[in-house]
Amino acid sequence: MAKGFDFGVERLAAGGVVVGVHVGETQEGSLKPALRGQKAEFAGQRPAPPGIRGTFFLETFGCQMNEHDSEKVAGVLLARGYKQVQNTEAASIILYNTCSIREKAAQKVFSRLGEYRTTKKEGQIIGVLGCVAQQEGQEIFARAPWVSLVCGSASYRKLPEMIAQLEAGNMRVTGLDTDTDETFETEMTRRDNPWRAYLTIIEGCDKACSYCVVPFTRGPERSRGSASILREIKELADLGYTEVQLLGQTVNSYADPSDRKLSFSELLVAVAEVPGIRRVRFTTSHPRDFGKDIVEAMEAVPGICNHVHLPVQSGSTAVLRAMQRTYTRDEYLGKIAMIRAALRPISVTTDIIVGFPGETEKDFGDTLSLLETVKYDGAFTFKYSPRPNTSSLKMPDAIPEEEKSRRLGILMEKQREIQAGLNAERVGKRHELLVVNKSRRENQWSGHTTDHKVVVFTSRRQELLGDYVQVEVKSAGENSLVGEDVSDW
Ligand code: SAM
Ligand code: SF4
Repeated sequence: MAKGFDFGVERLAAGGVVVGVHVGETQEGSLKPALRGQKAEFAGQRPAPPGIRGTFFLETFGCQMNEHDSEKVAGVLLARGYKQVQNTEAASIILYNTCSIREKAAQKVFSRLGEYRTTKKEGQIIGVLGCVAQQEGQEIFARAPWVSLVCGSASYRKLPEMIAQLEAGNMRVTGLDTDTDETFETEMTRRDNPWRAYLTIIEGCDKACSYCVVPFTRGPERSRGSASILREIKELADLGYTEVQLLGQTVNSYADPSDRKLSFSELLVAVAEVPGIRRVRFTTSHPRDFGKDIVEAMEAVPGICNHVHLPVQSGSTAVLRAMQRTYTRDEYLGKIAMIRAALRPISVTTDIIVGFPGETEKDFGDTLSLLETVKYDGAFTFKYSPRPNTSSLKMPDAIPEEEKSRRLGILMEKQREIQAGLNAERVGKRHELLVVNKSRRENQWSGHTTDHKVVVFTSRRQELLGDYVQVEVKSAGENSLVGEDVSDW
């Protein structure tokens, strides 16, 4: 597609004829026959009824980056005068921010869109955002013709113009360009949590893991300038946020595009030094770019949280090679040794995929033994899911679904044992928590430690949300820690 067509617009007359208008990706000739046939049925975007005009409902699936993208999308629309509502009936615009990392997640999108077919009111705009939008593009119009907007993450900044086009009577709009050096910076972000703020410092991904759709759905890596990041952190601190989480698919591959050329570890330190910021988190780190300078920054600056999420994916060098992860088992274990040698204890969590094509019993055994060696504080575990466009799709020796499930069960059981052991060691120890939840049960609260453990605790104090409290752990399970407020007050 020629650059300069930022988004495609399609305006239809009642008879289904294109009556003009600039056409980007949605040229009539390029539409699938099925889609052409459906135009007449859904032709003519009528205005929403007056009671709901100018309102939007936004639903989000997927990772923290998606959640944060939704916060920014909401900010962009609120800044243009739209009002966010909590149910679809009250909305003139229904936006659905999607995830396509595994097949199940992508399937969910179409079943949800199916629900909208029957509940959609006259004049309502239904929009699909995120990874499924980018991956399926205009195919979404063919499968769900009641959808009128399809927009990938690299085009979110243009959403108000796209919505204005639809409100002006255009039928379908797409924003699917990934050929951009823009990061999605917004003047306003509507954050869901009043104490912990997410902030994306790097968009997209330039790695080429053979199983992963992210490079296709989120486009190439683009880092945000350090001055702009630090300005937003200062604003967040002024608003009362004390914890910030820097986000990126490979957050530690950050490359400051400004003249300051801050490295990732220098950026961490600069963020932690902003007055008012007590905790800085970052996720996800790619093992290849995880250097000693990051551990040294953590040692030197207590505000950088004691936690690293370092996805390994497999404990077998042969599988890692097939996954194109760019490190061997031993190189990964070298990074772990570096983290474990730090002056303060740092917890490590990971992501693991089982049943990658060609994974043998021995390869799987290597993953189990790696778990034993590293003793992760937590692990997200997945069955390999073949994804469109990825190079692993064509690999031979697919593992049957039942075998993947068997391996996943064994892996999860092992991880549960490890976590139960690590959590038990915490009984009797004291931790500082940022309190983020109040339970419905009287006197019960929960919060996070700096090393990313959730502790449920009791306190006789009345108002704790957003406070930092000292808690002593009294009991532990494989997924939970229970404690008591022991702060002086
Ligand atoms: N960028 C991060 C990294 O490099 O580790 C992870 C991004 S991805 C949103 C989160 C996790 O989903 C991956 O670490 C991987 O374990 C899992 N994942 C990605 N593609 C997958 C696939 N095709 N099948 C199963 N799990 C997958
Ligand atoms: Fe996907 Fe690999 Fe990029 Fe992570 S590093 S987003 S797993 S391609």
